[in-house]
Amino acid sequence: MTQVRSARPAGPRRLWVDPLVRQPWWHGVLIATTSVGVAVLVRHSLEASWHFYFLPLLPAVMATALLAGRWSVALAIGLAVVANVMQVRGVSDQDIAVNSILFALISWGIAEVCQRLTQALRQSGRISHDLFVREAVLDTILTSAPIVTLDRQGHIRRITPVAAELLAVAPDAAANRPFSAFVSGFDPALLDKVGKGGILDPPPPRRWTAARPDGSVASLIIRADILPDDIEPEHAVLSLADQTQAEAVKDRGHDLALHLKRTWRLNSLGEMAATLAHELNQPLGAATVYLQAGRNALKQTGVEDDNAAEAFQLATSQLLRAGEIIRRMRDQITTGAHDLAEQRVSCLVEELAPVFTMISRDADVAIRLDIQDEDDHVLIDRIQIQQALSNLVRNAVEAVSNQHEGLVAVIGRSVQGQGYELTVEDNGPGIPKDRLDVLFQPMMTTKAGGMGLGLSVTRSIIESHGGQIIVGRSASGGASFSFRLPPITEFEAA
Ligand code: ADP
Repeated sequence: MTQVRSARPAGPRRLWVDPLVRQPWWHGVLIATTSVGVAVLVRHSLEASWHFYFLPLLPAVMATALLAGRWSVALAIGLAVVANVMQVRGVSDQDIAVNSILFALISWGIAEVCQRLTQALRQSGRISHDLFVREAVLDTILTSAPIVTLDRQGHIRRITPVAAELLAVAPDAAANRPFSAFVSGFDPALLDKVGKGGILDPPPPRRWTAARPDGSVASLIIRADILPDDIEPEHAVLSLADQTQAEAVKDRGHDLALHLKRTWRLNSLGEMAATLAHELNQPLGAATVYLQAGRNALKQTGVEDDNAAEAFQLATSQLLRAGEIIRRMRDQITTGAHDLAEQRVSCLVEELAPVFTMISRDADVAIRLDIQDEDDHVLIDRIQIQQALSNLVRNAVEAVSNQHEGLVAVIGRSVQGQGYELTVEDNGPGIPKDRLDVLFQPMMTTKAGGMGLGLSVTRSIIESHGGQIIVGRSASGGASFSFRLPPITEFEAA
């Protein structure tokens, strides 16, 4: 057989019902009296042509045995004996007694055979009912699950329609073909390793993939179970799970994490350049002034020759150039928003979900997303805002990572006509009041491996979007950082 049969028999089938299971007591009495009554009438009508004695009463006992239980059979035999005694004429009492006993014994024996027959019929009915139910359940499972059975050589023996759909092949076309023709890297020898059953380990690059005829690729997890030897040629059952979407989400999350990392590096460089420019500006300016003063002093003492004058000039211009280089570097890798476009905050956060999952798993901290998706259209540079949000979430996770039941919440609410507000709050220690002033200053950190650039980068991003970061205390006593994103104006929306 090439394909698992279609799941159900056409139309509903009546479930088997045992006729004797719920009979009331009077049912048996009715059957016994009716069948004996009919038999007596038959015998009476035949009496004119021949004496049949007990013979017509035998079918009455048999009918009772087939339709009712033992007590009813005993009643039917008793009634038959009484009816016979009442109808028989010219026979001695002894003969009547002997005939009655013989009839009772023979008819009981026949009734016993009839009862066994009904029991056997009932049992076979029950078995076929059980088989029918089992088959219906199995058929339903098989039609809805992607399952393939293989022989020892790894050839497909059966394939369910869902599995065929997953491999994008017609069930008949898959029959008797090697499974490896559809799933690259599959080797029937791998089945020996799974023993009684389990997930089949893919060979490098560590992914089971089915290359479909249309050129698309399905990513799979394969579970194998080995069948008992006595049902050869079937050898193994493979159940396939489609991982394509899950892998795509994982890949997207991975790509986004890489992208954010790169942007983070650029933003941090920009922030560092800005700080350096700011910090170095003063000493560079002072050095220029001191150089000028030195030159003037030399001039006054009259020892300055042309060479010295040129050297002073060159030193001054190099100092100015150093300041200019730093300023330009800052401008080049500035954190300003360059790629403004209409975005939905709910989509932007949804895209970050795999990144948050990674962060929360690594730190064993729960991250709760509570993002209202109404009126969440904003005009932003998506990647920059994702950068800002993930910085705040990362900080919050780090703040609670050492405590029991650390919780970080990302809350998004539209603020009527005034944009969309995002808040990241945690149940950590919060920000001490005396640190609020220096919190956003570059290079200010309380972490051993921290660079102290995250909050200053985040602030630059939010400010370049015309917003402001508000720091506060969350309801649970931790820190809360919130900022607003600009709404789409009617002009921009058009
Ligand atoms: P870094 O994370 O490298 O230290 P940041 O600029 O992101 O740099 O953060 C600066 C400092 O602000 C942190 O070292 C920490 O002391 C404090 N901070 C930031 N976020 C939180 C928070 N959610 N809870 C408590 N302190 C925080």
